[in-house]
Amino acid sequence: MIESKEKSNRIVLAKNSGFCFGVRRAVEIVEKLISEGNKHIFTIGELIHNPTYIERLKKRGVFICGEDEIIDTAEKYPDAVFVIRAHGIKKELSEMLDKKAVKYVDATCPYVKKIHNIVSENSDAETLTIIIGDKNHPEVEGIKSYANGEVRIFTDEEELSDYCKNMSNIVEKEPIMVSQTTFNLKKYENCQKIIKKLYTKPKIFGTICSVTENRQLEAAKLASISDVMLVLGARQSSNSKKLYEICKDLCRYTYFAETVEDVPFDKIGEIFRENFCGIFTAGITAGASTPDDIIEEVQIRMANEIAINSDATTENENPVIKDSMTFEEMLNASYKTIRAGERVQGVITSVTPTEVHVDLGIKQTGIIPYSELSFDPDFNVEDNFKVGDKIDVVVVKFNDAEGIVSLSKKRMDVDKNWNLLKDAYENSTVLEGKVVEAVRGGVIFQTGPNRVFVPASHTTLPRSENAPTEEDLSKLVGNTGKIKIIDINEQRRRAVGSMRTVIREERKALQNKFWETVEVGKKYTGVVKSLTAYGAFVDLGGVDGMVHITELSWKHIKHPSDVVKVGDTIDVFVKAIDPEKKRISLGYKTEETNPWNIFKEKYSVGDIADVKIVSLMPFGAFAEIVPGVDGLIHISQICEQKIQKPADVLSVGETVSAKITSVDEENKKVSLSIKALLVPEDGQEDASASSETGTSEESAAETETETETETETETETASGDNAEQAE
Ligand code: SF4
Repeated sequence: MIESKEKSNRIVLAKNSGFCFGVRRAVEIVEKLISEGNKHIFTIGELIHNPTYIERLKKRGVFICGEDEIIDTAEKYPDAVFVIRAHGIKKELSEMLDKKAVKYVDATCPYVKKIHNIVSENSDAETLTIIIGDKNHPEVEGIKSYANGEVRIFTDEEELSDYCKNMSNIVEKEPIMVSQTTFNLKKYENCQKIIKKLYTKPKIFGTICSVTENRQLEAAKLASISDVMLVLGARQSSNSKKLYEICKDLCRYTYFAETVEDVPFDKIGEIFRENFCGIFTAGITAGASTPDDIIEEVQIRMANEIAINSDATTENENPVIKDSMTFEEMLNASYKTIRAGERVQGVITSVTPTEVHVDLGIKQTGIIPYSELSFDPDFNVEDNFKVGDKIDVVVVKFNDAEGIVSLSKKRMDVDKNWNLLKDAYENSTVLEGKVVEAVRGGVIFQTGPNRVFVPASHTTLPRSENAPTEEDLSKLVGNTGKIKIIDINEQRRRAVGSMRTVIREERKALQNKFWETVEVGKKYTGVVKSLTAYGAFVDLGGVDGMVHITELSWKHIKHPSDVVKVGDTIDVFVKAIDPEKKRISLGYKTEETNPWNIFKEKYSVGDIADVKIVSLMPFGAFAEIVPGVDGLIHISQICEQKIQKPADVLSVGETVSAKITSVDEENKKVSLSIKALLVPEDGQEDASASSETGTSEESAAETETETETETETETETASGDNAEQAE
């Protein structure tokens, strides 16, 4: 039990909390394999139902392997060692491992093994094996596989009772009955009654593990005397959830937490101040798969919480030596007293690959286990510590009976590094790091040795009406970035960071720099951020400008997406600036890309060009000379003969040679003639001669009509938009 400084406040940890015998045994087997230097360790399924612990194992090279992956994995890693977890495995799988000579260590809990033996030895073709438990639980699946005859599994007494009501279900076989190790004792007794009524000689075996029963009874007792009750366990752990239900019925302020970060200490502090000031009992229990260090960490934080919220004065911690004491009593009293959570300095007395022993000036030996030495998963103990060196540590657990004090250097480092966060907060320093974990309401950002909580609204996720989901947040894990500390709680050693603040400030700095240097005509390379019906917004590096739709292309376009798309990197230039409204108009199309200029560079009046017929009108045909510049071949200039309509001779898409007969620079219009290529120079002379001789009137009238028609109808050509030209 840890007592806070205020004597009447206390924290009581249930004796039966944390790893049960079977789980601890399995965990120790894996730890031994790690310490032996095995490089490829695989557990068949999750070793324990605790994601935090599983994650830690992964970091130390222990991975989960599915049953159907064992053979492939063993082939891939010839030195692989597989661990059978406490639940056990099916008989067939066990036989397969032996047959294929797969290297494995069996960590099946002896209580589970015992059920395998009971079922195997007592069942045959003449028996019915009844198993009470969760059909889908690996332990039950394993037990079932050891039965030699018919097997029936029932989740609870209701299911068993319903089944037995139908007499046709009752088979003429001798029943044997077992239960899952973690089944509820009371409910199992009810199942036994049902079976005893139906069969004269049923063989019923008591197979419930006492650990579960004792844990639940103790949790109930503790909850009934506690003001606040904490149940520590993984969210998917059924035995932890069961403990929570039991405690919640008996203690109003019962909270479920997987790690210390989930414990609502703020709320507990409030409850303490408002309801129980002066008399406060906090009970802690934990499911069978909760690691010790999580329990210890919560104990320490809870002790701090009580100390923070208590107005009571600190007791005198100095030992009192009285005259009446014996020499041994005086010697013992002269030792320093230390308590869990205290920061102390000691001298290293021995170093092994897995732990460091420390002399703290007390009779107990201080031990820092490997897991509490460093955050670095590849940390080498012997390279980093020397006998005789001084070392600062935090006291984690005081075990007087065993003469051991568990210490942590990691927590001391966290303490020291807290100052880094404090300085960063006070000086508004930007810290670099990486998102390492998604948690409820945000992410954890690792900066150096420190972990900082970043609320979802301060991450780099885009703002939206709906709060980000866990999936959204987990996508950020692994991203590097920068944060600023926006809030710290000195007493509780908590820091809150913001990635968004850094991004906003960096953007602001870029904007300021931009506005200082921007000028009309200046060229930029930007990224298209968004498109609207009237233009494209381009990020110029912290500042957005807009290219109007008419500035995107020399041709008529219906939508900006005809030219650019979001994410495109484009070159633009500043057309106009409005510093007050912070608006920038950008140009995208340039004189170099102006089709009229391209046309002029390439052609002059009198030149012959291969042109493509793009549309046919009653008065003539429009033909593309260069992309973006069309010319008009008047109906009178299509061929030598008089025709009714251009379609009689030409078709859209056809390429023809035509002479450029005139260029109207001002109105950007080009006249073309095919006829001019068909009638030779001297032929023209002949034609005029003939007009002089007989048809001069008709010819003159025709020429006049052609000229008028051409003037009336030949409107725009540079845009190439023939519908507009027709208008
Ligand atoms: S709960 Fe009991 S049976 Fe299950 S692993 Fe723990 S000790 Fe073994």
